[in-house]
Amino acid sequence: LPGVEEVRVLMTSERRTRRLIAVASGKGGVGKSTVAANLAIALQRRGRRVGLVDADIYGPSQPRLLGVEGVKPQARDKVLLPVQTRFGVPMLSMGGLVAEGQAIAWRGPMAGGALGQMVDADWGETDLLVLDLPPGTGDVQLTMIQKHKPAGAVIVSTPQDLALIDATRAIDLFNKAGVPIIGLIENMSGYVCPHCEGVSNPFGTGGAQDISAKLGIPFLGRIPLEMAIRSASDAGEPPAAGNGPQAELFAGLAGQVDD
Ligand code: ADP
Repeated sequence: LPGVEEVRVLMTSERRTRRLIAVASGKGGVGKSTVAANLAIALQRRGRRVGLVDADIYGPSQPRLLGVEGVKPQARDKVLLPVQTRFGVPMLSMGGLVAEGQAIAWRGPMAGGALGQMVDADWGETDLLVLDLPPGTGDVQLTMIQKHKPAGAVIVSTPQDLALIDATRAIDLFNKAGVPIIGLIENMSGYVCPHCEGVSNPFGTGGAQDISAKLGIPFLGRIPLEMAIRSASDAGEPPAAGNGPQAELFAGLAGQVDD
């Protein structure tokens, strides 16, 4: 039988092989959670064993996106057991740790503790954890960077100047902490009218690509503003799990993240 020290070493090395990919944004409402859920599913469809941690304390939306709203995670020996979803991506959410409808007034250390419990949950064979971070550059992001050292960060922004300025701040935080930026995704980029099929750009377009070039970080691609993405997400049917053009789009993004 291994001694205590050996077990500890084993546990540490096991943990190291699990890569954490942070999905972050400078501000809320830009589609960070939507991208995190669909990326996780697309990575799983590439044959990765993927788990998803919803660390967005302000608006934990992964339970709804993945169709497991109201399902409480169980625990064994005080270790959380991730909630299984229909998409082969187990998930833990800040939302699952409080009663439904209860205001989440997390204080920094409490949120950090909850994040730690979720990252160190019983993820089994999972080799990749996608982390849906809260928007901005606050306590949870710092704890996550310092304690859990993600392998890389994907930044999501809409094309507006203001969103991009905030995204630049988030990029700066990861840069300073030595976390590699996997790349920037421009979401809600271009709107295809379902009636006339004309393309308009309510939030502009191309801004994220320009910023990526300026900052010398990879530009991963654009996701259009599409009714189908919103309605599928609300119905707990992430488009990445389907067979439509959006699934192809997310498969392409996942390929770049997985390189
Ligand atoms: P965040 O996590 O950045 O706050 P969400 O992922 O919750 O943002 O997205 C905010 C809203 O925008 C949700 O209703 C979501 O369904 C919708 N949404 C996100 N991306 C798109 C898109 N590309 N097309 C249409 N709706 C989108």
